[in-house]
Amino acid sequence: MKTFEDLIEEVQKPGLCHRCGGCVTFCSAVNYGALELDDNGKPRYKDASRCIECGICHAICPENDELTDETRQNVDWKPPLGRILELTIARSADPQVLQHATDGGVVTGLILKLFDDRLIDGAIVTRPLGRFRREPHLALSRDEIISAAGFFFDTSHGMKNYSDKYLTYATIEAFGAVIKKGVKRLAFVGTPCQIETVRRMQALSLIPSETIKYCFGLFCSGNFVFGEKQQKQLSRIGGFEWADVKKINIKEDLIIHLNDGRNIRIILDELEFMKRFACYFCRDYAAELADISCGGVGAENGWTTVIARTSTGKSILTESKKAVLEECSYENTISASKKALGAITKLSARKKNAALSNRKALAAHAQTEK
Ligand SMILES: Cc1cc2nc3c(=O)[nH]c(=O)nc-3n(C[C@H](O)[C@H](O)[C@H](O)COP(=O)(O)OP(=O)(O)OC[C@H]3O[C@@H](n4cnc5c(N)ncnc54)[C@H](O)[C@@H]3O)c2cc1C
Repeated sequence: MKTFEDLIEEVQKPGLCHRCGGCVTFCSAVNYGALELDDNGKPRYKDASRCIECGICHAICPENDELTDETRQNVDWKPPLGRILELTIARSADPQVLQHATDGGVVTGLILKLFDDRLIDGAIVTRPLGRFRREPHLALSRDEIISAAGFFFDTSHGMKNYSDKYLTYATIEAFGAVIKKGVKRLAFVGTPCQIETVRRMQALSLIPSETIKYCFGLFCSGNFVFGEKQQKQLSRIGGFEWADVKKINIKEDLIIHLNDGRNIRIILDELEFMKRFACYFCRDYAAELADISCGGVGAENGWTTVIARTSTGKSILTESKKAVLEECSYENTISASKKALGAITKLSARKKNAALSNRKALAAHAQTEK
């Protein structure tokens, strides 16, 4: 049986840990309490003597292949992009949601619909704590769900407050609050690696993953470190001042929306210097294991590209289109969906190919080190 020691050797030491928090979540949920997250979100032993060597932390890590087939079968995954039951371009019909949203506010709109229909008690989202700082959060009210929307940009703090640990990423440790508050039915929003961890936990029926009734995945070309050094370099590359920035967003490119209405686009290749190391090895762009995946790619500004992947996802999307979402006009939807699918296919293939060659290079490097 592989244990946390093996996770350290196989995943952490080579830099492959996504810091999704799954291993710690399970270990603390069942009260073993052998693991914890350090200040940077990296799992470590809290009390090694409490480890019963059950091997579950190893099995649910998205970097190991032990549960890949089972996890994929459970959502009827199909190559090359996962299952696609419907692809559309939509936005929230609620002006308050649109005002906060990253793109078309579809993720928030869908969660609110489930909440208002009393199908969920809340959602695990991330809430903004500052300009580039987020933390996972169990949102249990409409207001909390709405205020978690978007890629938050707070100009009230100075750069000196930021360090390399401030990422665009948040872990799933908000699961801890799920246990304490005893909530039973939740939606979960996450990047592809986070969704994969939840699906693996569900494949083994591990607490507290049975509380997750709906998985909303975000398209993801990578997570980025917005430390002081990186912010300076980015403003040099884009030729802008952070004080002039209203919002930032990631689609085919990084888009910097300025207060004066101008947009600056920086191609993703130029962001390699701030990409989190583990993301070089990730193979999932379009959150292929989610019920519904969302991104801005292929959609006009202010709209979200939406993929329903499971029958659960499809039925929420259908109900929401009748009530809380606005879809592109029919002709526009057909051509925009085609364009979006083309872009997603290209970006997914690019991510998978890069991950494959980076993994080969890492393995070759490890061989020469031996
Ligand atoms: C790190 C990252 C990289 C991304 N890369 C791309 C990309 O390359 N191409 C692309 O098309 N789209 C990308 N997206 C998705 C895109 O930014 C939007 O989240 C998506 O289009 C949904 O927009 P929306 O307006 O419908 O969502 P909103 O209604 O704004 O809701 C967004 C939801 O996501 C949650 N959230 C925000 N940040 C995080 C996070 N770090 N971890 C977990 N949950 C979070 C919020 O709490 C909220 O519930 C990325 C998102 C993230 C977080």
